[in-house]
Amino acid sequence: MKLPIKERAFTTGMIILAAAVVMILAALQYRWSNQISEATSIRLADSLQMSMINWHLDFFRDFSEICIAMNADSDVTKPDDHDEYARRFGVWKRSTEHPKLISNFYLIELREDQGPKVYRLDPVTSRFGLAKMTLDIAPLPRELQQADSQAASQSALGAANGAPSALSQAMDREFADRFYPGGPLAGWQFEPSIPALVRPIPSLEPGAGEATQRAMPWIVMVLDEKTVEDQLLPDLAERYFRGTEGLDYQVAVVASNKPKHLLYTSDAGFGGQEVTDADGTMDIFGRLQNGGTGSPIHIFHTPSENKGPAASVGITWFPLLRLNGIDQDWRLVVRHRRGGALGAFVADSRRRDLSIGFGMLFLLVISIAILIVTSTRAQRLARLQMDFVTAVSHELRTPLTVISSAAENIAHGVVEGKAQLEQYGTVIGSQARKLFEMVEQILLFAAIREGHQRYNLRPTEVSEILDAAVSSTAGLARSAGFRMEQEIEPNLPKILGDPSALSQCLQNLITNALKYGSDQRWIGIRARFAEHGLHGREIQISVSDRGIGIDSGDLPHIFEPFYRSPSVMAAQIHGTGLGLPLAKSIAEAMKGRVTVDSAPGHGSTFTLHLPCMEPSARQADAKASEAVSSSSTASTL
Ligand code: ADP
Repeated sequence: MKLPIKERAFTTGMIILAAAVVMILAALQYRWSNQISEATSIRLADSLQMSMINWHLDFFRDFSEICIAMNADSDVTKPDDHDEYARRFGVWKRSTEHPKLISNFYLIELREDQGPKVYRLDPVTSRFGLAKMTLDIAPLPRELQQADSQAASQSALGAANGAPSALSQAMDREFADRFYPGGPLAGWQFEPSIPALVRPIPSLEPGAGEATQRAMPWIVMVLDEKTVEDQLLPDLAERYFRGTEGLDYQVAVVASNKPKHLLYTSDAGFGGQEVTDADGTMDIFGRLQNGGTGSPIHIFHTPSENKGPAASVGITWFPLLRLNGIDQDWRLVVRHRRGGALGAFVADSRRRDLSIGFGMLFLLVISIAILIVTSTRAQRLARLQMDFVTAVSHELRTPLTVISSAAENIAHGVVEGKAQLEQYGTVIGSQARKLFEMVEQILLFAAIREGHQRYNLRPTEVSEILDAAVSSTAGLARSAGFRMEQEIEPNLPKILGDPSALSQCLQNLITNALKYGSDQRWIGIRARFAEHGLHGREIQISVSDRGIGIDSGDLPHIFEPFYRSPSVMAAQIHGTGLGLPLAKSIAEAMKGRVTVDSAPGHGSTFTLHLPCMEPSARQADAKASEAVSSSSTASTL
């Protein structure tokens, strides 16, 4: 049964509204998840950048302590006063956390005429003494010489007196902000091949201009690689990349100077090969690339504008000794431990959040769809039930009116003579039968619906069903002036069914043909055998009329309980809307079906399709009847 236009419009409106809300929610969800993952990336990048900067500052702080202790720019420092340097070194050693960080302390004088002069601090006597050029610092004088000539042209020492030096110019502004550019901390450089911290000693003697020609003394502090690898770097990794359960990041420090080697790794194997999915890399001593505008820190995602800690007085930047030695630098490499690289981790989380969000929306859509379908069904059922009550009351009223007025006439003596009384009796009887049939039909429908109806299946001749149906409707047909034609194929195979239910089913079809057969007053009943690929061997019993026919819009609904086409209701043809649903249910219980072929104004043909009995069942049936007939013959004899 179709819903009224108003209700259909309301339902359609609700569906469109729900679809729009779901689409808006999906779009918002998508946008929010993008924003959240962007914000998460920035937050993680910020925190990683901060950890790396702090790691860097702390790493340089250890070196800066030495620089401050050496106080190489003090007015009292004389380049030749070796004992003063030895004393200051001793002070540093006593105060530092890592006294073994410096394995050798040299003062090297570069003399063009005589070659370099090397003084080494004897750890036992704490005095400098002339030493031979050992293998570990062999390449150094040449490097210092080159740095010297660069410094001469760019006045590197000027930086020590506050003027901008080539070194400080080479620093990125960001780093110049972060590291202390002047005073005793200035002028220190890093030579990765030794590795060593080096610095030229300024000369403040009169005629300093000649000093560069005379000799340029250099402080050379050779780092103890073991202390760096076993103490400094593991401590720093623990301090800055530690989470609640151990290190949050895999950390490696790689020395790029040939041969390239790992100084420290938190996880065996990490950093040994090029790490392509690192979350952050940092050239620890590197001068800046891209003309000094870039940063040596690379994070997997652009961090926010926050540049990390403000100017840190007391810490210096140690640029590489060679200006173009960037490929010699030490490099810090970090990668998130859980869920792989952070970028992939954020993308994964976003994908997971989106799937959960869309899953919830999908659930919402399904719930709305179920709600709409259920409420539409409930509405339709309520309407059908109301229509049914109206139709049944209407149906009951006619026979009841006839019976009550007949009874009144008899009671008031209006009926005279035996013949009239018989006539009244017949009318009352037929109306009572009508009532009885209607009540039976309703009870049958209820029983089928509840699943209580039991069928008595047995091999049945088609003629048996036809005879029963025709004889019970013949009187009605005759009184309505209908001509009933029958065409039954001979020798039809038996079917397995309940004869009385099947005859009830046929009766419903014949009654409808009588009700809706209009003035043509013709009914054709046909029974034949057919063999279809899909449905196999079957008996087809069809009931045709040449009446009003059925509108194509009504055809999909006529087998629904209580459905009555609007045209028959308008024509005030009585009915309950249960005849066809009952016929269908009975046919299906016998593994059959009911089909309809109709054209409005030309009539309809309803066909009951029933499967033939299987040959094996037929043989068993034949044997059983043979046995019955032989036993009855024997008993007759
Ligand atoms: P009822 O006849 O009591 O209305 P049915 O379930 O038997 O209920 O039929 C449902 C509807 O199918 C009818 O209301 C009618 O519109 C249509 N219908 C059934 N049989 C015919 C027929 N032979 N010719 C035209 N319409 C029919």
